[in-house]
Amino acid sequence: MQRIGVFVCHCGTNIAATVDVKRVAETLLKEPGVVHAEDYQYMCSEAGQKLIGDAIKEKQLTGIVVCSCSPRMHENTFRKAAERYGINPYLVEIANIREQCSWIHKDKEEATEKAIILGRAAVAKVMLNAPLQAGTSPVTKRALVIGGGIAGIQTALDIADAGFEVDIVERTPSIGGRMSQLDKTFPTLDCAACILTPKMVEANAHEKITLFTWSEVEKVGGFVGDFKVDIRKKARYVDMDKCTGCGECQAKCPNKKTPNEFNRGLNNRSAIYTPFAQAIPNVPVIDKNACTYLKTGKCGVCAKICKAGAINYEAQDEIITREYGAIVVATGFDTIKLDKFNEYGYNTNKDVITSLELERLMNAAGPTGGHVVRPSNGEDPKTIVFVQCVGSRDTTCRGKTYCSKICCMYTAKQAMLLKDHYPWLDIHVFYIDVRTPGKNFDEFYRRAVEEYDVDYIKGQVGKVSEAENGRLLVQASDLLDNRQIKMEADLVVLATAIEPNEGVRRIASMLTASIDTNDFLTEAHAKLRPVESPTAGIFLSGVCQGPKDIPETVAQAGAAASKVIGLLSKDHLVTNPCTAKCNQVYCNGCSNCEKVCPYGAISYDEQMVIRFGARETTRVATVNTALCQGCGACTVACPSGAMDLQGFSNRQILAEVDAICR
Ligand code: FAD
Ligand code: SF4
Ligand code: SF4
Repeated sequence: MQRIGVFVCHCGTNIAATVDVKRVAETLLKEPGVVHAEDYQYMCSEAGQKLIGDAIKEKQLTGIVVCSCSPRMHENTFRKAAERYGINPYLVEIANIREQCSWIHKDKEEATEKAIILGRAAVAKVMLNAPLQAGTSPVTKRALVIGGGIAGIQTALDIADAGFEVDIVERTPSIGGRMSQLDKTFPTLDCAACILTPKMVEANAHEKITLFTWSEVEKVGGFVGDFKVDIRKKARYVDMDKCTGCGECQAKCPNKKTPNEFNRGLNNRSAIYTPFAQAIPNVPVIDKNACTYLKTGKCGVCAKICKAGAINYEAQDEIITREYGAIVVATGFDTIKLDKFNEYGYNTNKDVITSLELERLMNAAGPTGGHVVRPSNGEDPKTIVFVQCVGSRDTTCRGKTYCSKICCMYTAKQAMLLKDHYPWLDIHVFYIDVRTPGKNFDEFYRRAVEEYDVDYIKGQVGKVSEAENGRLLVQASDLLDNRQIKMEADLVVLATAIEPNEGVRRIASMLTASIDTNDFLTEAHAKLRPVESPTAGIFLSGVCQGPKDIPETVAQAGAAASKVIGLLSKDHLVTNPCTAKCNQVYCNGCSNCEKVCPYGAISYDEQMVIRFGARETTRVATVNTALCQGCGACTVACPSGAMDLQGFSNRQILAEVDAICR
């Protein structure tokens, strides 16, 4: 005989303002099996949980339904509370009357009716719940970090310093990410290389860190605590153990016609190359699409001059499989393509550049040795125009609706650094609004205006074209003075919107991690779990989760590392008991379930089965509960209704549907 208790939460006014919570409790009390129903302001609070506990004892409840927020938020809270007061935690059901009801409805009558229906469905389900026992699974004490920018490096260092092994998989030839392309960094103006390269060296030297550069994640299997990952180590054609990093090969390579990615195409590189002087590892790669020898069998200069005998044209990609307890995504960002922004003339005029290209021009190790010149003719510029929000905060479908967050600050930085080097420069910045909310950020921006006399103009640039004298003609509006402006400039710098790095969708789908409409990885909870993805064991670090500067990236990297350390410190993890179960009497051995199971949890064995009173030996499905993650794919694929999910059985789901349709 079931004795169900129903607890309806007000969630302050979150639910109670739109749902008549008292009526929900009164109505659900009349449901078959329900012996207790009450409402309370905050059910998740200590007092709320005690209220549930008292009712469990007094009314000898056998199951409970909490009508509250999403189970993602507090299912665990209420399960733990039930367990404390003597009820199996899997005899708790949540009716989500906040996200799926009060937050999306305005009409109180309709919302109340829906809340009652949702509560009724949860009661119908809990009546069929059976007590379940969670199992345990071991934890592989090694972490994988995908992406070797500052986020990935910091996360790896923090995990490794706590004593755990970490692998960094970086798809370019060197770790370092975007920060290695920057000149000086706001808000302190210290040189990017001076603060980044020691961390790169430390990561390379750390006994607990293994670097897989020029490598990509190929396949991910398993689950939290026990991921199995295939890593493709792309052929470098240079033996890492033999190469001394002397650089002779790059100097002598006759094929120097490939646009240099690291310098954003501002100069060319050789077919064998190290992306930048401080690269780690300091071992070149041969670009197989550019190398004359690999394409035609002719040349071979690098092999001839390499005294270490490190060149190996026969090298092949290698796949290695490693096991991990946790995975951190730190795949960073790129600037958007500007093909849809013809008005700025980026694709037609060499003197229109992006801010990242300007970083390379300003960098002492950049293509011009730190001398900022007009790319079209190598002359010194006299007037520079910066354009803010190019493709950011853009509601026209050409760009991104979000604010890229870093551009206001790096533009102020670049303007001040330019004035330091070239005090005669005339600098104008066109902006929509200046956003500088970080610590000491507004002071930083004001220095650009007050001390450095940078001319900030609130207005939008409508067109950049070539003037008759070969300079650039900028046409813009000044919104404060309500006038149209035409000015000549030698260089136009576009603060281009940023977006998640290419390939993030593939990574997200391999990890079953979710992404938002802009392809940024989604956190499990924006406020309470900002560095965890909704998929257990997958963590987020850096700009792959959303735009941020270096201080914020480093803080988030540390937070992700601490979550990973917490996980790897455990010897065992509690596993979800809501796993699939095969009723072997009904199983016809078709193997549909095995084919769809993403975790490889289903196998086939010869089993003795009693059917219609007769014993027979037949091939039937068996679920390995340690591997099953309870996704339910097999239950849908099974044509015989043999596969069912404990805690979400077909009977329970149909009982919910019946209750909703009643
Ligand atoms: P990234 O630096 O992008 O690193 C990501 C890494 O992951 C890269 O190495 C990439 O190759 C790798 N990767 C990507 N996909 C894969 C994959 N599938 N598999 C393996 N590896 C992969 N911030 C400041 O605080 N101060 C400044 O002065 C400043 N100036 C800036 C100026 C400009 C023009 C720009 C564009 C940004 C500036 N920033 C500044 C912001 C700063 O660059 C970022 O905050 C920082 O680089 C974010 O680091 P990250 O590791 O998250 O990403
Ligand atoms: Fe390495 Fe040989 Fe090239 Fe020197 S010449 S950098 S040792 S591959
Ligand atoms: Fe058996 Fe169903 Fe799996 Fe087919 S799909 S093998 S019937 S459990």
